[in-house]
Amino acid sequence: MQDSPETEDPEPPGPLEASAVSAPDASFGSSYEIRVPLPPPLIPQRPRTQPTFPRPAPYRPRFVTSPKSQAFRLRHYPEASQSDWNDWRWQQRHRIKSAQELERLLQLSPEEKAAIERHVGPLPFGITPYYASLLDPEDSSQPLRRTVVPVLEEYAHTAGEALDPLGEDATSPVPGLVHRYPDRVLFLVTGLCAVYCRYCTRARLVGASGEGSLKKHQLEAALAYIESTPSIRDVLLSGGDPLSLDDERLDWLLSRLRRIPHVEFLRIGTKNPAVLPQRITPRLTRLLKKYHPLWMSIHFIHPDELTPEVAEACGRLADAGLPLGSQTVLLKGVNDDVPTQKTLMQGLLKIRVKPYYLYQCDPIAGSSHFRTPVAKGLEIIQGLRGHTTGYAVPTFVVDAPGGGGKIPLLPDYVAGRIGDDLLLRNYAGDLYRYPDPEGTVGCGKIASIDPCASA
Ligand code: SF4
Repeated sequence: MQDSPETEDPEPPGPLEASAVSAPDASFGSSYEIRVPLPPPLIPQRPRTQPTFPRPAPYRPRFVTSPKSQAFRLRHYPEASQSDWNDWRWQQRHRIKSAQELERLLQLSPEEKAAIERHVGPLPFGITPYYASLLDPEDSSQPLRRTVVPVLEEYAHTAGEALDPLGEDATSPVPGLVHRYPDRVLFLVTGLCAVYCRYCTRARLVGASGEGSLKKHQLEAALAYIESTPSIRDVLLSGGDPLSLDDERLDWLLSRLRRIPHVEFLRIGTKNPAVLPQRITPRLTRLLKKYHPLWMSIHFIHPDELTPEVAEACGRLADAGLPLGSQTVLLKGVNDDVPTQKTLMQGLLKIRVKPYYLYQCDPIAGSSHFRTPVAKGLEIIQGLRGHTTGYAVPTFVVDAPGGGGKIPLLPDYVAGRIGDDLLLRNYAGDLYRYPDPEGTVGCGKIASIDPCASA
């Protein structure tokens, strides 16, 4: 059965195979009787009954739709069939891009409306109908809504903020490539995203120039750079969202990268499984499967994103053999507390995504209303480590402004030293001694009992 690239459920009701393979062979009985005439039966034969065939299964769409988004579709998009709704291109085409469109779905606060109408330049406003179905129509402080609907604070630029806080432009050898670490490059293949996050680190790039992707000659220049730089063993496709590319372009790009002998490892950074899960079609997963080892980092923000649709999308990717990791930005008023993060991380494990990074929000221009103190990230890690399975604990990192790279931060579990013993604090705050006669870790922590302090 062929999968359409466009839609998930175009097939007619019931399994086609059942009627095709189960049809009775009418010729068999008559030819048998002609060739081998049988004597009259000694035992009276029972009347022949019609063969029975399995009843066709009731029609079910091939991509799951939660009751919530189903109700939303029927209410706000009555003209759209379920097949339309499950078609990622339909979702892309029907993105909500103006205050007027959004007002049809949500009760906008005056602040939200003014912020959307004031907007010019990159990081446009855009939300898929699917993701809009997850937003609270009345509460403008709902976490998901805060991440995608602009507010006026976005226009306030504070000290220490920058358009390019990570200094990516300074480490770009050709347009679309960032080569900061020796053995890997970031390949920004498109400026198009299904949904625009209001805290985006690449706000200066995404949605700029009419949401375009790199032109063929720019892609060729970037590929030529990778081909001529043997130290590059890892290429991370990002953007924008690389899964905004259609299957043909993605296939072409991945095949070109796979042909480069020194590129050992490919990664895709995407938010589509969370905001446009319909994009994860069987056709896409078959395509991706051809390019292993291929890993995927998926951007998740809040447990409210973990819907049946998202579980289905991640299940398909995992079944195709892609190791899945999550990336989460720590955002004030959105996910800056332990219970929310624990629910998110545990929920991700249930849909086969390993929590990978928890990011301190970059000092991108206009993001001060989203940024927490760094101590908040440490508090969250402390609230996770030991309190839930280790797989659910991401690495908390600060991406150093100016291009210093990711710096991991951990709560301090070293309490000091007592003689030859290292004094450690466990997740519950209890102290334990570990014999470490040659060690120096912990020196200076507890002056009164620290032999190193008097040395
Ligand atoms: S999906 Fe990623 S690249 Fe696109 S707006 Fe969100 S954070 Fe930025």
